[in-house]
Amino acid sequence: MTTKAYGAHGADKPMEPLAIQRRAPGPLDVQIDIAFCGICHSDLHTVRSEWPGTHYPCVPGHEIVGQVTAVGNQVTRFKVGDTVGVGCLVDSCQHCESCDEGLEQYCENGWTGTYNSPTPDAPGHTLGGYSQRIVVTERFVLKIGHPKEQLAAVAPLLCAGITTYSPLRHWQAGPGKRVGIVGIGGLGHMGIKIAHAMGAHTVAFTTSESKRADAHRLGADEVVISKDPEQMKAQTGRFDFILDTVAASHTLDDYIALLKRDGTLCLVGAPDHPHPSPGVFPLIFGRKSIAGSLIGGLPETQEMLDFCAKHNIVADIETIPAQKIDEAYERMLKSDIKYRFVIDVASMG
Ligand code: NAP
Ligand code: ZN
Repeated sequence: MTTKAYGAHGADKPMEPLAIQRRAPGPLDVQIDIAFCGICHSDLHTVRSEWPGTHYPCVPGHEIVGQVTAVGNQVTRFKVGDTVGVGCLVDSCQHCESCDEGLEQYCENGWTGTYNSPTPDAPGHTLGGYSQRIVVTERFVLKIGHPKEQLAAVAPLLCAGITTYSPLRHWQAGPGKRVGIVGIGGLGHMGIKIAHAMGAHTVAFTTSESKRADAHRLGADEVVISKDPEQMKAQTGRFDFILDTVAASHTLDDYIALLKRDGTLCLVGAPDHPHPSPGVFPLIFGRKSIAGSLIGGLPETQEMLDFCAKHNIVADIETIPAQKIDEAYERMLKSDIKYRFVIDVASMG
């Protein structure tokens, strides 16, 4: 079925209207008319080939919300008219140890990303949510319990929400824990809201003085301007856990110094250039860890959506028409967005 989309034909090509094909729903498939799709920094890394291996045409988008318009005859959890979401994954092997544990993002046989992953469907790689429609196997579709009028602001939960929720849960953010969130962008602003809702003492680290007041509004108990060495020094040795969402290469030692003994610095930001190698002695002398974390599995993504609905958490967004995606990318690179762009798919006509 022909579907309108926005994508690019090369790393240095603009985003433009495309006509793509979606498969007819199979027995286990859910067909979704997309209402809104968030713009993640990973979309920009991919469409501009900042990470290796982009296939063109590239249609990004993995923060998808919309309505079910058809279901296969073996689908049990969804019906036509349901409000649903799709995140960064549309398939996995579904039988390895990780998949059996609901950790499809660590599938040992390789998961299928919502865009830029191999698929039998034309053109041979998956095409994402900057489009009017998508067809996804039932296991990878999420239920949305937020009120209808919040739908656009729910979209970013499908990546920015789960990418921060999963490590905050894994490292047990909660009452009595001092948690740092580095970078107040799409991921970071969700990290602040979620860590605060989990009951942790939440400290935001930002390079942007202009985000200070806002960070408190988002739920930060303290805000540190990371470019100010005095403010950084005052936080030395105080953190159980720090979540680093920064999309650019930077010095990790500055944050390792802020961890308590046995503390963990978890990286979720995925810059195109590597961070300078961190010093070994600060890790050894405090039994500290550097870790990474990838989005979240399907059960935990549903848990996150339900948690956010219960705590009335959505993203802070600016809605744009598809014609302004390139402009949004440029503003995202300047950290000039509070805090997530969301495409109104109705603008595709
Ligand atoms: P974003 O909205 O652009 O936010 C990144 C934030 O990092 C900026 O708002 C800025 O915050 C800070 N920053 C940017 N450049 C910086 C620099 N040179 N030095 C220090 N801080 C800087 O991006 P996003 O969508 O949140 O994504 C963040 C990163 O996570 C990207 O690399 C993305 O690909 C990656 N990601 C990873 C996963 C995963 O599963 N691990 C999932 C999704 C995204 P301040 O203005 O507050 O300093
Ligand atoms: Zn993302």
